[in-house]
Amino acid sequence: MHSIADSIHRIQEQLRGTSARLVVVTKTHPVERLQVAYAAGARIFGENRVQEMTAKQPELPADVEWHLIGHLQTNKVKYIAPFVHTIQSIDSLKLLLEVERQAAKYNREIAGLLQFHIADEETKTGLTLPEAEEILRSEEFRNLRHVRLSGVMGIATFTTDEDQLRREFRMLRGYFDKLKALYFAHEESFREVSMGMSSDYPLALGEGSTLIRVGSAIFGAR
Ligand SMILES: *Cc1c(COP(=O)(O)O)cnc(C)c1O
Repeated sequence: MHSIADSIHRIQEQLRGTSARLVVVTKTHPVERLQVAYAAGARIFGENRVQEMTAKQPELPADVEWHLIGHLQTNKVKYIAPFVHTIQSIDSLKLLLEVERQAAKYNREIAGLLQFHIADEETKTGLTLPEAEEILRSEEFRNLRHVRLSGVMGIATFTTDEDQLRREFRMLRGYFDKLKALYFAHEESFREVSMGMSSDYPLALGEGSTLIRVGSAIFGAR
């Protein structure tokens, strides 16, 4: 069993020489363990529940980047709008418009990633490419001033089949490349491909991930 700090250092070592960054997924873990991760150099924390994130945020230093990685209901955006850095789970225009409204209230800019459905499982949520393009072509999208779409996110199938995982990561990378070329060619800030978790992040890095989301490989099983 490695310590939290050892695990973080080992992963950071694997990221050296790539442009990818580590999102430390802290859901279900108490604040004390987040503080240990912070002391070990972690600065991007991912939580999947609004209530848990808002409870932990005041207990950590202000330079933590908080990423919401779980499904977000529009009526809960207001609770995280004062501090959240990136919402990785944007899956509708309605949600984008609410993030815009709440971010404007605080005169902030919030980053968003379009979440795509890449898994071979019905239960996982996310957009299809046509749905994403419908959002990007809409007038409402063009009028957003406080949300900045900075890339894409996906959750692969829960499987050990490496060919399948590679295929799914490649599909997400392909969506990113296409959207980048068609809608964000001149926007440097559209650059993130969030994919890869504890069990598959080396594969995801091989397919061009820029944000790996790692929990259990750092903190142990939840
Ligand atoms: C929990 C979670 C992770 C981290 O999973 P681990 O297998 O513990 O690394 C990554 N992404 C999302 C969206 C999650 O909900």
